[in-house]
Amino acid sequence: MKKKKPEWAPENSGDEFATQVLPGLKNDISGRQNTVSLSKQKLTTKEYVKGILKDDRSILARAITLTESNAPAHIAQAQEILKELLPKTGKSIRIGITGSPGVGKSTFIESFGNYLCENGHKVAVLAIDPSSTRSKGSILGDKTRMEKLSRQKNAFIRPSPSGGTLGGVTRKTRETILLCEAAGFDVILVETIGVGQSEITVRTMVDFFMLLLLPGAGDELQGIKKGVVEMADMLVINKADGNNRQRAEITQHAYSDALHYLQPATDGWTTGAFLCSAINDEGIDEIWKNISDFTELTKGSGLFYKRRNEQLLEWVYTMVEENLLSRFYQNPKIIASKETIDKKVLNGELTPVNAVKLLLDKFD
Ligand code: GDP
Repeated sequence: MKKKKPEWAPENSGDEFATQVLPGLKNDISGRQNTVSLSKQKLTTKEYVKGILKDDRSILARAITLTESNAPAHIAQAQEILKELLPKTGKSIRIGITGSPGVGKSTFIESFGNYLCENGHKVAVLAIDPSSTRSKGSILGDKTRMEKLSRQKNAFIRPSPSGGTLGGVTRKTRETILLCEAAGFDVILVETIGVGQSEITVRTMVDFFMLLLLPGAGDELQGIKKGVVEMADMLVINKADGNNRQRAEITQHAYSDALHYLQPATDGWTTGAFLCSAINDEGIDEIWKNISDFTELTKGSGLFYKRRNEQLLEWVYTMVEENLLSRFYQNPKIIASKETIDKKVLNGELTPVNAVKLLLDKFD
């Protein structure tokens, strides 16, 4: 009898090739889903909570994936988990890091993160990358980044959530911060590039905000938007090494002078300009010392907690606004009448104020 040839066999092989090879899992576009659904069983809320509190990284990662999902059942479970964990959150310093592409953010985080781990801290690195919310892929996530840090046992690196609006990404990142805190991470680094509103958004979720700059060029040449310097609790002039060292010192003095004329980002705190060579691990200890001084000062004055409370309520009302807006645009009565009302406004038959009244009357 002729042997049945297995489903998979080397090309040009004959009947002698009889070892049965199971066909592999078919990859879908994301290349992951099948393996996940086969290898992972659904966890209960209790299992998630227990796993996170034990700093089980695979459970932490799965919980983050759950908070990143938009499926109603996932959202509900993620909220249950967060509710259980809330008392264990908050005990970290949340640091925002921004700067133009190429300034050295990844290199800095690698160096800073390693320094912190070596000094007994647990560091979570999160990213907010608005480019990843569009289809083109992420600026912060595409390259292999922070190789050494990713091997540190006390570090956890999570790329930017993708998909959805900046508002959606923001919610997910805030929730991820809480999950990481519950898992015992005491330093949370939230990285962003200055695209769209992302720095402003990150400022609303961190205690301390750091802006990385290059030696030499002025803000505008570095692509730094007006106002971002004013949001910073620290300026770091990176790449202060080799031929750039002297230029970096000049830049440091120029910024130190300029900072005298600016409103401080945090009341009672003087934003300083620091030199750093992330690639040579230079200037890192001074930077951490300054952040520790900041924490001590603002905790002492109560400003630290006041800002956190303000941020929490801001988060609530930002979500209320987003929710109302989306309900407004999805309301069938609004959808049915919007075009006619828009036309009337454009024809001059209806004033904008009356158009608003008409629309909101329909929305009620
Ligand atoms: P990012 O886009 O802001 O994350 O920047 P990267 O960390 O990817 O760094 C961009 C480039 O600058 C890389 O080639 C780094 O090796 C280089 N770089 C980063 N930090 C330093 C530094 O302190 N000194 C020097 N000379 N180069 C650096």
